[in-house]
Amino acid sequence: MNKMEIIWAPWRLSYIVKEEEAEKKERETDTELPILPEGDCGCFICQAAVDSDNVTRYVVGSSDKSIAILNRYPYNNGHLLVAPKSHRASLELLTSEERMDLMEQITHWVGVLKQILKPEGFNVGLNLGHVAGAGLPGHLHWHIVPRWNGDTNFMSAIGQAKVIPQSLEALREMILETTNNYPKK
Ligand SMILES: [Zn+2]
Repeated sequence: MNKMEIIWAPWRLSYIVKEEEAEKKERETDTELPILPEGDCGCFICQAAVDSDNVTRYVVGSSDKSIAILNRYPYNNGHLLVAPKSHRASLELLTSEERMDLMEQITHWVGVLKQILKPEGFNVGLNLGHVAGAGLPGHLHWHIVPRWNGDTNFMSAIGQAKVIPQSLEALREMILETTNNYPKK
């Protein structure tokens, strides 16, 4: 049956999927921040690691050795990045404690997103190197992307745009409330 479907999107089309590269360029080198030893003051993950209370960094939590940040240009609602606090480009440069902590954190954040957003699945992955799609090859980061049935629809397939139903600010608030993780002032 041929019928025209009406799409109601009661939110603004605020987020257009962009390459992480664009995100990297938009974030400026911040020489004022007391970046961790061996960190890079032009790296947004290093900046977030020492400035996690700053709402514009979109940090939702951290452990001793790793940090979780909302992706500013999400592929889907709830797209999180989990990264070591240390600026490391490859797995073998991490300590085994860091690797264990990262796995624990990935597990934790998949659980939090499950609870809050009730996705039907996840893509969890690591892009190693430019050729593999890493926009920030100097600092390892795992992507956690919640998935829903039908989330790859014509908007993303043809329009090359994705509608994300929730602002990053609102999502961060929700996550901080759920994890009881408000920055301590
Ligand atoms: Zn870094």
